[in-house]
Amino acid sequence: MAKNNNKDRAEKILQRLRESFAMPKWISSRNNPFETLIITIISQNTSDRNTERAFENLSRTFPITPEALAKAETAKIEECLKVAGLYRNKARVIKEVSKIILEKFDGSLEPILAMPFEEARKTLMRLPNVGPKTADVLLLFSANKPTVPVDTHVNRVSKRLGLAPVDGDYEDVRASLQILYKPEDYSAIHILLILLGRKYCKARKPLCEHCPVKDSCPSKESVAYEA
Ligand code: SF4
Repeated sequence: MAKNNNKDRAEKILQRLRESFAMPKWISSRNNPFETLIITIISQNTSDRNTERAFENLSRTFPITPEALAKAETAKIEECLKVAGLYRNKARVIKEVSKIILEKFDGSLEPILAMPFEEARKTLMRLPNVGPKTADVLLLFSANKPTVPVDTHVNRVSKRLGLAPVDGDYEDVRASLQILYKPEDYSAIHILLILLGRKYCKARKPLCEHCPVKDSCPSKESVAYEA
């Protein structure tokens, strides 16, 4: 019964979030898995704006393909990525990952994404700098596989909303959200929790008073601020 109540509450939260935020346009355009992978590598420890700028620089200079990036001059990739920080490391990873995809997977991520879910996830996570979040982003948005990527916002917000255990790790949070929601809603809940986290449920000083889901939130009076 409690489980059903939580499912109903989770559904209500999703509905309220859908009414409160417009879905970003990139969702429909983000279906080239190699581009998605490159964007996620660039986005590590940087803002969306800087990720976008670095990716634009890179796309203007090279075709975003494993062939082109595997043979590109590292210094030129670095130059494109400067705006996103950690550019030396990111340029090295991009070259390395491009080479592996070219040599081991015939220049395409498609054969990996076509594998059964767990096998695809494990294979992706063997690529350099690809952790569970990047693998889940690729599997969900480029292969329509049933998984909920857990980034820093999804982790914090779902715990405050009581949708995941407060001391849960990545896999616990992912599993909780996947139990509460239907697979066809996985991309929506991932995106909407990020939007809620950015606008209202900030790590420090969440704006509970203005939050669209405050009526369903058990933490609104007692939320712990993150340092
Ligand atoms: S009410 Fe506060 S703690 Fe709860 S989701 Fe909204 S901003 Fe976060």
